[in-house]
Amino acid sequence: MIDSPEIPRRRNAEALDAWTDVLVIGGGPAGAWAALAATEAGVRVMLVDKGYLGTSGATAPSNTGTWFVPPGEGRRLAIEQRQPRTGGLADPHWVERTLDTAWEKLHCLADWGYSFPHGDDGRPYLANLRGPDYMHFMRRRVLAAGVTVLDHHPALELLGDGDTVGGAAGIDRQHDRPWRIRAGAVVLATGGCAFGERILGAATLTGDGYLMAAEAGAALAGMEFSAQYAFTPKPSALNKGLPFRWASFTRQDGTPIATAGRDRHAAVAQALLEGPVFAQYDKAEPDVRAWLRQGQPNCFLPLDRSGVDPFTERWPVTLRCEGTVRGVGGIRLLDDTCATGVPGLYAVGDAATRERLTGAISGGGGPNSSWAIASGNWAGRAAAIFAVRIRARIADRPVTPLGRAGLRPAGTARGALAPHELARAVREEMLPLDRNFFRRETTLRRSLERLDACWGELQDQEPGDALAAVKAREAAALVATSRWAYRSALARTESRGMHRRRDLPDADPALVCSFQASGLDDVRVSRADPRTSAPAP
Ligand SMILES: Cc1cc2nc3c(=O)[nH]c(=O)nc-3n(C[C@H](O)[C@H](O)[C@H](O)COP(=O)(O)OP(=O)(O)OC[C@H]3O[C@@H](n4cnc5c(N)ncnc54)[C@H](O)[C@@H]3O)c2cc1C
Repeated sequence: MIDSPEIPRRRNAEALDAWTDVLVIGGGPAGAWAALAATEAGVRVMLVDKGYLGTSGATAPSNTGTWFVPPGEGRRLAIEQRQPRTGGLADPHWVERTLDTAWEKLHCLADWGYSFPHGDDGRPYLANLRGPDYMHFMRRRVLAAGVTVLDHHPALELLGDGDTVGGAAGIDRQHDRPWRIRAGAVVLATGGCAFGERILGAATLTGDGYLMAAEAGAALAGMEFSAQYAFTPKPSALNKGLPFRWASFTRQDGTPIATAGRDRHAAVAQALLEGPVFAQYDKAEPDVRAWLRQGQPNCFLPLDRSGVDPFTERWPVTLRCEGTVRGVGGIRLLDDTCATGVPGLYAVGDAATRERLTGAISGGGGPNSSWAIASGNWAGRAAAIFAVRIRARIADRPVTPLGRAGLRPAGTARGALAPHELARAVREEMLPLDRNFFRRETTLRRSLERLDACWGELQDQEPGDALAAVKAREAAALVATSRWAYRSALARTESRGMHRRRDLPDADPALVCSFQASGLDDVRVSRADPRTSAPAP
């Protein structure tokens, strides 16, 4: 049994205290693949999710295209053609190995019996996964492999032995009790951070893994590339991009918004700052319309419910912020195993930076889901190897909790925290198009002043009961992620990919580099070589 006065519990609820070789935090595709890879390496694995492995996270409610390119000349060309679009930041070696592992593991999925959709030639089409049944399949596979899955067990903080990460602690939401799991290695698979925006699957994606990693001493990379936005029918939360390939956009008075040959998102974002914008899928021929309705039925629900024919009528549209979910930023990775630099700690999927894979542009539409598969496999295996080396000490080595903000007041607590106020401040600073989509030094500095004040507030407050502790940590993670994002955006004094500086509209050839953010109270940003993570000369 554990005694953790900082983590509140219901009276008499017995705390869960356990140990395992590898602990995976987060049960999206990256966490599920990491758990499978670790069990294949022959170790004991536990997986905790804030929600439910199978329905939580960004993949579960969506259809997911993968980046699925056969080895050979075609792959070499695909990598070469994408490279200039990444702002020169992607690393062909990482792209190649991601494609390799995804290729191999998607074939495994087919061999295991996952029912891929079929193409016109009647053969399984391995480049597409239906989110709900993919994640349902992965859940069954993970359980069958012997992984202990604890749903509704948000992790609040990591544990450390002074040198190595030694597990994590959190709250069992079903029994209102604390849990603590000591582990030989931890894989952070907590997904990205949508800054509190209402988008598909993002309810649990508040950047918790970034905060936990930073508290353990890890750094973040590519955080300035957190300005990914998606077209969404208004007022829904349905941020699915595919049908918009066939959309045209108009202003209130019906005048068209020119998007041909331009950055479509930027053209629509600018128009949205000036007034309402409408969309219509009028570029879709009848066969495409039928295909879209069949392949992406949920995209049409809000429009069908309002009695609108999306192909022949226009309807209000907006851009919703996806932050690092389809953005790029995340925990910095040091080597091919997805190690974070903190011994025993690995990061995968959207919790990790995808800068080496996609550079300055979004990894949505294929790269991200292949990355979740590949990084999960690399880290799961490496975490198992690491854990085996220290197995004899896992269960009884002394570990201490590493969480601070929102959990343990720095000095004398001055009162109860109001996490919803902090979350509101983050939404107000991170979602508006004229702050995050289009950036300027003046607006970035103004937002940072408010976000820094929010961070200060988090230091003096007590979380309250168990649910309040979860909310307090979410608020802390949201505020911390926003500060890393905007501090990195200030450091990148140019425009590149999704980082659009109105005051510095051109790319600077001297800035083909990575920016790494570290620290919590005092955020520091430094330049590094994107391919090696080493400090830039
Ligand atoms: C609408 C939409 C469509 C997309 N389509 C595509 C596509 O077609 N192709 C593509 O490549 N990518 C696509 N993406 C991106 C893709 O979904 C993500 O890259 C992918 O889901 C990342 O997987 P993940 O496992 O890292 O994170 P997620 O799938 O987001 O899972 C993270 C998990 O961590 C859990 N978690 C969070 N915090 C904690 C905590 N403190 N304790 C315990 N558990 C926690 C969450 O509950 C969640 O289950 C899309 C994203 C969206 C939003």
